[in-house]
Amino acid sequence: MRAFVLKEPGVAGWADVPEPELTPYGAILEPVAAAPCSSDVHTVFGGGSRKAPNLVLGHECVGRILEVGSLVRDFALGEIVAVPAITPDWRDLGIQEGNYKHASEPFSGHRLGRSRPGVFAEQFAIPDADTTLAKIPDGVTVEQALMCVDVVTTGFTGAEYADIKFGDTVAVLGIGPIGLMAVAGAKLRGAARILAVGSRQICVERALEFGATEVLDYHNGDIVEQVLARTGGRGADSVIVCGGGDEVFTQAVDMVRYGIGTVSNVNYYGGTGSLPFPKFSGGRGMAGKTVHTELAAGGRVRIERMMAMAAAGRIAPERLITHRLSGMDRIEEALYLMKDKPQDLIKVMVSEKRGTDEDSQRRSTLL
Ligand SMILES: [Zn+2]
Repeated sequence: MRAFVLKEPGVAGWADVPEPELTPYGAILEPVAAAPCSSDVHTVFGGGSRKAPNLVLGHECVGRILEVGSLVRDFALGEIVAVPAITPDWRDLGIQEGNYKHASEPFSGHRLGRSRPGVFAEQFAIPDADTTLAKIPDGVTVEQALMCVDVVTTGFTGAEYADIKFGDTVAVLGIGPIGLMAVAGAKLRGAARILAVGSRQICVERALEFGATEVLDYHNGDIVEQVLARTGGRGADSVIVCGGGDEVFTQAVDMVRYGIGTVSNVNYYGGTGSLPFPKFSGGRGMAGKTVHTELAAGGRVRIERMMAMAAAGRIAPERLITHRLSGMDRIEEALYLMKDKPQDLIKVMVSEKRGTDEDSQRRSTLL
């Protein structure tokens, strides 16, 4: 079958790969809608860990079930489901110790398109359907479900680990798709002020729509100084890091409040080496600042909870989709859009079936 794969570091393209195999607890699905994300861009162009030859890319997908294993209870043929990007193996014993994301080895929760074939293929397998696939509630569109499988849960993970209390001032560094959902999450967790840091116009508009009270642009001067100036020199109660290079980690520690401040990082730092922890603003090791480094939460219940937020009208993640392409053969184009980030792009979605892009948009809204 045809799949969109990592051919070698820096080169992605279509290839013939073996069909997925059905297992007793598993399911075989085909993509109904899929989205490339920055982590696919990192996997292809970022020079991360060594990957299997012709690794099938992709981990953001709404899929149609083509086959289910003999022991699957809750899902049936033809059902359209959300496929979580993070797919913990609930039989990993580390999970019984509360280690959901890195249970058996680092990143054991993040296998799709990384250590096992991803979703950018004619078909793909999920090894444990009942604990992984998520039921899409009535009233939730394919577009919303697609945003919930990774972007919403990742942004919300950032907000959860930021330990936000009613009335807090929260800074969100980076307002791409993840940062925008961190803004939405911070608002829902009770932040009073949300300082969103970014500059692209479309992202600024969405940040304000999702709950940012102020937008700070790093073109206007040092971002740490801007945050300190707006908080009377005290710093933000919480800082959620959702984008940027190595320097943002240091900036986050610099700008978070002494004594009770929390930095919550869901940003990816490519390459090797170390992230500099600032000695001075780190209180020479005694500042009382907490740093969390987190992979998104995943699995069925988590993604069903994210979609419950959309069903209840608490979030509007479909507002992140700025580009819609029709036909899975356009995944490559979509990946390059995510890599090159034109000014008007937040998130691109590719949907099945050919036709006009407008048709596909209407269809995905109806589904
Ligand atoms: Zn993703």
